[in-house]
Amino acid sequence: MSMITRRMLMTGAASLAGAAIAPRWLHASMQMGGWQVDTLSDGNLQLPADFILGPMPAEEIAPILARHGIAEGAPLTPPCNVTLLRGQGRVVLFDAGSGLAFQPSVGELPDALYALGVDPADVTDVVFTHAHPDHLWGALDDFDEALFYNARHYMGAGELDYWSDPETVNTIGAARQAFAIGAARRLEMLGDMVERFEDGDEVLPGVSAVLTPGHTPGHMAFAVAGDSGALMILGDAIGNHHVGFEAPGLPSGSDQDQGLAAQTRLALLDRIVADDMTVVGYHLPGGGIGRAERMDGAYRFVQAG
Ligand SMILES: [Zn+2]
Repeated sequence: MSMITRRMLMTGAASLAGAAIAPRWLHASMQMGGWQVDTLSDGNLQLPADFILGPMPAEEIAPILARHGIAEGAPLTPPCNVTLLRGQGRVVLFDAGSGLAFQPSVGELPDALYALGVDPADVTDVVFTHAHPDHLWGALDDFDEALFYNARHYMGAGELDYWSDPETVNTIGAARQAFAIGAARRLEMLGDMVERFEDGDEVLPGVSAVLTPGHTPGHMAFAVAGDSGALMILGDAIGNHHVGFEAPGLPSGSDQDQGLAAQTRLALLDRIVADDMTVVGYHLPGGGIGRAERMDGAYRFVQAG
């Protein structure tokens, strides 16, 4: 694991140039609406089980976890899938990964991009779903400069306002205080590189913002329209492939507003199935691309391919 910095790139010191793509980095691909869609791995988070499952009734989720081979109390290791859209003269990232300051098992996005032959300088747009560490912190390199220094960065207006507010660190609660400090600092460093958008805005050609609050106050998903179908970039609106689909109404410890997040998840799943959309989730397995199917009064995630 190594952060590729702006300085390394300028001096050609990065060693991965021209290397064949490593399968562990490039996970899933599809075409949608004139875009080549790929997901790139930033690595895996290491989370105590309670971080997600803590508020859930143990007897209700036990069969779901068993079905997915997750032992009771075992740490969760969700993958982090950054979505890359290429086409129409643009190179677009949905979220920027963790960088190297969050957890040792993430921060691999720069390596994944390099292996794919995409230079950070080529990235034209970075669109954030929300401002949590595993989505935002990778936007800066080790020198606190924008890693994607030619890109316009976009964040939903409500999300940007919330994490830029100096009061947030005092009101968010001890468990998320580091998130607030980290987000505020990075948003300040990015400064006027970050542009705001609202619910429903077309942030890129054929890509519309969908306000999906609860996980964070201003979380955004993105609907990508195609000729024969559509793709929903979920971010963390559905944060895992087990309880997130199979018990979507239960409160999740990873959501800041657990009740609102559950409402959002249920409404989103209803729409995804009704509209027969493909989904890509930041923390879903196998690269994160798949579909939702109704099952036993709830849903299940079906991986593509
Ligand atoms: Zn996340």
